[in-house]
Amino acid sequence: MSDQHQNLAIIGHVDHGKSTLVGRLLFETGSVPEHVIEQHREEAEEKGKGGFEFAYVMDNLAEERERGVTIDIAHQEFSTDEYEFTIVDCPGHRDFVKNMITGASQADNAVLVVAADDGVAPQTQEHVFLARTLGIGELIVGVNKMDLVDYGETKYKEVKSEVTDLLNQVQFNTDDAEFIPISAFEGDNIAERSENTEWYDGEILIEALNNLPEPEPPTDAPLRLPIQDVYTISGIGTVPVGRIETGIMNIGDNVSFQPSDVGGEVKTIEMHHEEVPKAEPGDNVGFNVRGIGKDDIRRGDVCGPADDPPSVAETFQAQIVVMQHPSVITAGYTPVFHAHTAQVACTIESLDKKMDPSSGEVAEENPDFIQTGDAAVVTVRPQKPLSIEPSSEIPELGSFAVRDMGQTIAAGKVLSVEN
Ligand code: GDP
Repeated sequence: MSDQHQNLAIIGHVDHGKSTLVGRLLFETGSVPEHVIEQHREEAEEKGKGGFEFAYVMDNLAEERERGVTIDIAHQEFSTDEYEFTIVDCPGHRDFVKNMITGASQADNAVLVVAADDGVAPQTQEHVFLARTLGIGELIVGVNKMDLVDYGETKYKEVKSEVTDLLNQVQFNTDDAEFIPISAFEGDNIAERSENTEWYDGEILIEALNNLPEPEPPTDAPLRLPIQDVYTISGIGTVPVGRIETGIMNIGDNVSFQPSDVGGEVKTIEMHHEEVPKAEPGDNVGFNVRGIGKDDIRRGDVCGPADDPPSVAETFQAQIVVMQHPSVITAGYTPVFHAHTAQVACTIESLDKKMDPSSGEVAEENPDFIQTGDAAVVTVRPQKPLSIEPSSEIPELGSFAVRDMGQTIAAGKVLSVEN
């Protein structure tokens, strides 16, 4: 077992089997506590039911999901020989888009689940677009529900070629994608090679997970902590909470909140209800800063060192991919940008370049409009102060989603910022 860590996203169209796959992975890797299985075994035996362990995991996940109305992401952990995985389960389509962008789910690699009986569906497309734009490294493509298509090789190849076309379309290097015929429900080719797919001699899922490349080491970027909420806790005072994206926070550090533009010295840091002297990337913390009151700061602020504060953009230039827009986007369009924990209306002030999606070369300077499927460089002016940074400097704070009419219409990365 290794202590190398991977954040794994499970993406794909609704009902294609993401949650079932998560349950299956937890179950097969022994990540469900023995006493829990034991308890359920007894219950099931009393009722004379078979196949109960896996069913239990599924029930449990479903229950957590129902309870998790306010918790928008379900972290599940399991280990293989090579890695400790945190699964960023993405059962709800909207949650996935939001989490991917707000950085709550900085995934290193992803498993794309595509049901063999359905093939590429709208959210398959959208998730692949996002994964590509937001920098997911490798994709493992699980062609799922093989049991529903009689484990047929022809059907598998059909779906594989559909997905390959989609990946090529968004310039995802298909050499970095492993295709595996699986059944999350029956367990085929997950932890053991299945006799139902004798025509297949590639890696099974656990092998492919073991062979994922190691995640990039954390950057030496300065502290960046987007604020999710601000609480008032008796005996302590104002407690902003959030997840550290980059850098370290120590008690005694002088910090600054942007764009609220206030700051002070860190008095206490709390994690999992315990006081800690310091916190690092990935840690969810609540902390208290001398002299900061509840109304001084808000969700969407980013906390960083006082001598290297998060930048606040007057305008910024960004590369965007238009995923779905009913008509055309022209200069002056003002949708809502979701970046880390902030949501701010921003005007697309100018369309600077349109890129050729197949070569990545500039196809047109100053186009009059862009539309679904286009990649473009645009200049953006936030309508309220927004802290955002070039993704080349701080990738975790350099990506965003553009939403309008209740859907994600584009996603992008910040190229440069004018303060
Ligand atoms: P999600 O919306 O992508 O998370 O999909 P779920 O995991 O909730 O699965 C949707 C439905 O498909 C459920 O009824 C599952 O039991 C079923 N399902 C998932 N994987 C398989 C599979 O491999 N084979 C079969 N026959 N059904 C599956």
